[in-house]
Amino acid sequence: MTITANKKRCPRCRQHRDPSWFSRDYCRPDGRACWCKVCSRRAYRERSWGIPQAEFDKLIDLQGGGCAICRTLLEAAGTYPWTRMDRTEDGRIRGAVCRECKAGLVGFRSDPRRLAAAIAYLA
Ligand SMILES: [Zn+2]
Ligand SMILES: [Zn+2]
Repeated sequence: MTITANKKRCPRCRQHRDPSWFSRDYCRPDGRACWCKVCSRRAYRERSWGIPQAEFDKLIDLQGGGCAICRTLLEAAGTYPWTRMDRTEDGRIRGAVCRECKAGLVGFRSDPRRLAAAIAYLA
């Protein structure tokens, strides 16, 4: 069996990816969603936030391909689909961050004073 035999093809981006790149969907015969996570995420971004893929790609590019905070490369397998948008209170896009950093920001309510206090606490 070749390696490609284990891959699932996404009809949207036409890429053959490891099944882990597809969300679980038990309603489907192979137990995986039709579109890969990258495409699902892209559609979600466009639909929910009105961010076209070109704009998103440009943003990631400006950040050197990594999370705006920890610099983890967002293209790396398994992390790219989970890229989160960080926004200011008035809805402006501040940057793209990885899932962990986004969770951190949410936890600290994006409050610089709170984050500074946490740094002092850790030190
Ligand atoms: Zn795809
Ligand atoms: Zn990060």
